[in-house]
Amino acid sequence: MPSDGPAREAAHDELWRHETFPRAATALRLGVGVAIALVLANTFLVAGLVVPLRVSGASMAEGLLGPHYRLTCRHCNAPMRWSAESMPQSVTCANCGQRHSDLQRAAVHSGERMLVDRSTFAWRSPRRWEKVVLRCPIDATELCVKRVIGLPGEKIQIRDGDVYVNGKIAAKDFRTQIEMSVPVHDSRYSIGGNAMQESQKARRWRGQNAPSAWRASAAGFVYDVDVAARQKTQSSEIDWLAYHHAQSARGTPTAGAILDDVGYNQAESRMLSPTRDIMLRCRLRAEPRGKLAWHARTVADEFTAEIDLTSGAGKLQHNARPAAGFRADCCARGEWVLAELSLADERFVLLLNGLLVVESPFSRSGSGFRRAPQPSAAPLKIGANGTNVIIDWVEVRRDVYYISPVTGLNPTRWPTYQWLPGAYFVLGDNSAVSVDSRTWPAGAVPSELVVGKPLVW
Ligand SMILES: [Zn+2]
Repeated sequence: MPSDGPAREAAHDELWRHETFPRAATALRLGVGVAIALVLANTFLVAGLVVPLRVSGASMAEGLLGPHYRLTCRHCNAPMRWSAESMPQSVTCANCGQRHSDLQRAAVHSGERMLVDRSTFAWRSPRRWEKVVLRCPIDATELCVKRVIGLPGEKIQIRDGDVYVNGKIAAKDFRTQIEMSVPVHDSRYSIGGNAMQESQKARRWRGQNAPSAWRASAAGFVYDVDVAARQKTQSSEIDWLAYHHAQSARGTPTAGAILDDVGYNQAESRMLSPTRDIMLRCRLRAEPRGKLAWHARTVADEFTAEIDLTSGAGKLQHNARPAAGFRADCCARGEWVLAELSLADERFVLLLNGLLVVESPFSRSGSGFRRAPQPSAAPLKIGANGTNVIIDWVEVRRDVYYISPVTGLNPTRWPTYQWLPGAYFVLGDNSAVSVDSRTWPAGAVPSELVVGKPLVW
């Protein structure tokens, strides 16, 4: 590995072509904290191909955790974890919005253990979205873990939480989205394990129309055709179970858009942004008759996937226009099915039992790119008609939201970063606290500084 010196600094300066980022803010952010500093750095440099290390920072949370506190929410039983770098006065449960101030109950845990595989990048180059261990550009004796966002020679822009490469959105595949996503609400965590009580309290999931044949059950939700028949609702219309978000950033749940809040950053105070990229995962079973449907919406785009459970034929609509047809035979067999959908990175996808059944890209640049989401509109819905449905788990997640360094100063100016051959643009998943290519004076990371691939122990 080459050592740092004037020649290398000059090279770094050339790599840093980004013009709009203010230097004062750079200095401030450099002080916020280093990603994952590894105490064994010196040993590491002479060690073998696979090296055990321990995470010590917050920049890749909640995928990789440094020292942190853990506490179980007394209100909904959800686990809460937050960085041990500072102790806040109180913490707020990201799942239900309840504030907790009895933090003496919290248990402190050391950073997660991790292995570094030094052999992978001897054979091939790092890929986009891949996590890498690298020597920190501002202190080569420290190591940090980041995710590769920009490859050598690319122009990178962080816009509205997403990454654009050479002007086009960089879309993650669904598994990468889930790996990087932040949990928003999980039906497994509810008061005394009773989703009905929790639902009444937080009103996250509820029937869209009154009357609705959707009911909360002990484990999740059920749709009952007999109840629907008694209610004499219109027989051909989908009855929707709709998710309504409750913002918990201030400690009191209030209806509103899903924000880029991160439960791990309890001591962090900053402006939060509405996130439009969302995911839904649910486990359900429906009788092989009638219809089953999912609906997801962002600012100006909405998708409805509807399945005829008698035939297994599915159709996807985008803004009420036909977009695609698909097969969903597993749903038509009356089995338990894991359904996962995502409306993120300008793409809708639906997976059933882990297999992609339909996807539809769209461009949001024309239609309401800068418009705020309507808090009153449910971003996610599950629908049924003419069949009994049991849902025993449903989870809402949101995509990682990358913060652009200038957003707070002038949201209409999105900086563009361009890298010379041989340099990678890397970011931490926990964008609010990560120190990375956005803020390092040299910006991109030359490939010589990449030392391996992290493997969680
Ligand atoms: Zn809670």
